[in-house]
Amino acid sequence: MDKGRLDYFRQKLLDELRRHTENVRENQATALEMVAIDDGVKDTVDMSLHDVNQEIALRLGERESQNVADVDQALMRIDEGSYGICVRCEKLIDERRLEALPTARYDAQCQSIIEASQDTDEHATL
Ligand SMILES: [Zn+2]
Repeated sequence: MDKGRLDYFRQKLLDELRRHTENVRENQATALEMVAIDDGVKDTVDMSLHDVNQEIALRLGERESQNVADVDQALMRIDEGSYGICVRCEKLIDERRLEALPTARYDAQCQSIIEASQDTDEHATL
């Protein structure tokens, strides 16, 4: 991939990183807010609802953290010069695929092979 395209995808990834970081911060703020609200109300029903909400916020935070890690790794691959190359078969990943999924590590073919093998994993005996 030429430098112009790499810069383009780097910018895309950085935008994504910013968006995810903001989501994480929002989720944490939401979780903290719910803890703060807790002061006034000590009703058991409200408490359990509060726990559920907090749990959801924390899980969303976890998912966002995973997204941030994916973007981080993609940025690292740009620096290493391995960005846009399938880590499984080492073929170039279609740029339209990267356009839709800038953190893609596999080309479409390998992705579907991996997904298919994951489906049967529980039955597989190695
Ligand atoms: Zn591949």
